[in-house]
Amino acid sequence: MVLDADPDLGPVVVSEDDLRDRVAALGKQITDDYAGRPPLLVGVLKGAFVFMSDLARAIDLPVGFDFMAVASYGSATKTSGVVRIVKDLDADLGGRDVLVVEDIVDSGLTLSYLHRNLQARNPASLEVCALLVKDGPERQAPDLRYVGFRIPAEFVVGYGLDVEERYRNLPYVCVYRGAQP
Ligand code: 5GP
Repeated sequence: MVLDADPDLGPVVVSEDDLRDRVAALGKQITDDYAGRPPLLVGVLKGAFVFMSDLARAIDLPVGFDFMAVASYGSATKTSGVVRIVKDLDADLGGRDVLVVEDIVDSGLTLSYLHRNLQARNPASLEVCALLVKDGPERQAPDLRYVGFRIPAEFVVGYGLDVEERYRNLPYVCVYRGAQP
């Protein structure tokens, strides 16, 4: 792959095969847990779009889809602590079983904010499926019902995750070693 030759890319953290296997397992677990009450999948843009696309196809239920965009980073690679809704949902969450699909939880600030915000809209249930959770100091994140992988606290790209809009289409997750924007 041309992308592989990029000198800013470090070691692979989660391979394509591991992603495929884990996403399939998560899809099966969600299918079992939500039998008879298909959830509304709420994807957190932009990073979750690749994961959500694969996960949804691994769930054997008539799920719904909606998307939200929040900004907690701007273009920087460190948490700013500031979270704002850039695009809100189209759906009314009242009485719905909502499953938030997140790409990565680092400090947990983004997810804590989202959780509070969505809970206030009175869903029947609200759970989170995060593909990646970084090791590190105590997170603020609410309970994560589904987690793909726990990874070391390094800045990663690929499988939806970017640096200034690059690398989202890498089919695996790897360390980013380039200059921090
Ligand atoms: P948190 O609020 O949990 O610190 O950060 C969550 C958001 O920060 C994620 O949704 C993602 O957009 C971004 N983020 C956190 N860690 C990384 C990382 O290692 N790589 C990339 N590309 N984005 C990250």
